Amino acid sequence: MFANFLRPNNLSQKMMRVIFSIYLAVTCLITSMEFLTEYVKTQDSIVSELKQLEESVLRPISTSLWQYNQNQLEALVAGLLKIPIIEGVDILDKYDQPMISQRSYTRDLTPLSIFDIKSDLNWQLNEHKIFLGTLTLYSSSEVVLDRVLFGFSLIIITEIIKLSILFWLFIWAFDRYLASPLKELMSQVNEVQLSETITKRINLSHIENNELIQLQVHMNNMLSAMARDREILLEDEQAKRNSLERAVAKRTQALQALNEKLEVLATRDSLTDTLNRGSFFDTAQHLLVLCQRKKSPTSFILMDLDHFKRINDTYGHVIGDKVLIHFTQTIQTFLRKSDLIGRVGGEEFAIYLADIDIDDAFKLADKIRETIANSSLKIDGKRIIYTVSLGVVSSEPTEHLIVDLFKRADVKLYGAKGKGRNYVER
Ligand code: GH3
Ligand code: MG
Ligand code: MG
Repeated sequence: MFANFLRPNNLSQKMMRVIFSIYLAVTCLITSMEFLTEYVKTQDSIVSELKQLEESVLRPISTSLWQYNQNQLEALVAGLLKIPIIEGVDILDKYDQPMISQRSYTRDLTPLSIFDIKSDLNWQLNEHKIFLGTLTLYSSSEVVLDRVLFGFSLIIITEIIKLSILFWLFIWAFDRYLASPLKELMSQVNEVQLSETITKRINLSHIENNELIQLQVHMNNMLSAMARDREILLEDEQAKRNSLERAVAKRTQALQALNEKLEVLATRDSLTDTLNRGSFFDTAQHLLVLCQRKKSPTSFILMDLDHFKRINDTYGHVIGDKVLIHFTQTIQTFLRKSDLIGRVGGEEFAIYLADIDIDDAFKLADKIRETIANSSLKIDGKRIIYTVSLGVVSSEPTEHLIVDLFKRADVKLYGAKGKGRNYVER
């Protein structure tokens, strides 16, 4: 408790220390002043007592002096020294020479301060007053303190009791009106801080209309403002997130479309929409491996338009392009979904037929040749007749590379060309 008082760690104890220090200082000051006043008063009363005593002994002492009765004089002085307030007696003769000088204290125990009262010793003879000498009675601070201390001890004891009672009353009052409400406030602030819900507010019990209730109101207002701000922020954040998600979805869609476009561009021929050379060979190679694994027949047809240079030269490149488109669109109608068609050169196309043997492949190739030769293509009012030569091969059980099939088909195609074109060689 005392250590806490010296080094307080909470507000009420700190306030209590300040108040008690001030109270103690004021009490000490007032008590000191009371003590001083009491001291001066007591000293005055002792002086007047000394005066009375002196007046009462002046006559017997003057008589003893007049009669030269030394014994009586000494007895009188001894009697005076026995009186508690008298600390010393001096009798001087008319020439100021000491006749008797006695003290009730020893030289070592001389009091702090000594005060005295002095009167003349006279003898009345007829009408004359004869001066015999002087009488001085001494008293000291010790005598005053002896009297004052009793009263002063009472004052001190009263003050200590008063201080102790006030101390405990202050502790109780501070605890009741300040420390406890503050502790409750702090714990509720903590609860609010840790709480999951934003609706929790501070609600102090036993609260009176004072600064604490105002603090509670202000803190609750602050919490409400914070909750509002938080909601606005959350809504704002949600709106931003939604817009971001929408933007990301839009961008993803655009990217997907772009990727699809790129994939088409990367894998297909832009003019005829058939597979390009690289994509055709990759896919055909993959299908060949699958067919070989299940020991299924597969066929390869290589096609080259006859004298295409001539068509270009006669009708121009644009019409030549349209002829290429017409050719691919025509043969597409004979193919299954699982068949592959690719542009492997300028006017050279290849078909990969999974699960089709050489006879069926030959039949298909011849059907293509015949259809193309008999097709009547009209472009810009001009009737264009063109033919195609085809080389057909089927895969050998040991043949694992599509290029090997392609090479063999190329040889066959070369043969077909040699046989006058518009021909299928197998
Ligand atoms: P052959 O019967 O021996 O195959 O004779 P050819 O004229 O068809 O063969 P050649 O290789 O001499 O000529 C092929 C021509 O195809 C040359 C080229 O200009 C043309 N060609 C290649 N690609 C395209 C194309 O994309 N569009 C057009 N219009 N012509 C093309
Ligand atoms: Mg060619
Ligand atoms: Mg050709």
